[in-house]
Amino acid sequence: MECERCHKTTSGYELHDYCAECGKNLCEDCMEKGCCGNVPASSGMQAAEEADAAEQLQEEEAEQLKDADFTVDTGLPNVEGQQGEIGQ
Ligand SMILES: [Zn+2]
Ligand SMILES: [Zn+2]
Repeated sequence: MECERCHKTTSGYELHDYCAECGKNLCEDCMEKGCCGNVPASSGMQAAEEADAAEQLQEEEAEQLKDADFTVDTGLPNVEGQQGEIGQ
């Protein structure tokens, strides 16, 4: 893979990070030097990871909402929560 700014190449399967603003593949040195007015450059890889994490969080929240609806439907108290409080 080749850095689009200094054209340094990495061997093997190593991936460069990329600017979250313009999407250019940049080596570590160029990321540190900055891009698009950000020093260091905003990491595209980090932004993608955070987007993934936010998506997963939303899915988990949706699952929890389903569980909450189920508890309301059966009219059962939240036994799990009560046990947790006694344990502490
Ligand atoms: Zn570079
Ligand atoms: Zn950029």
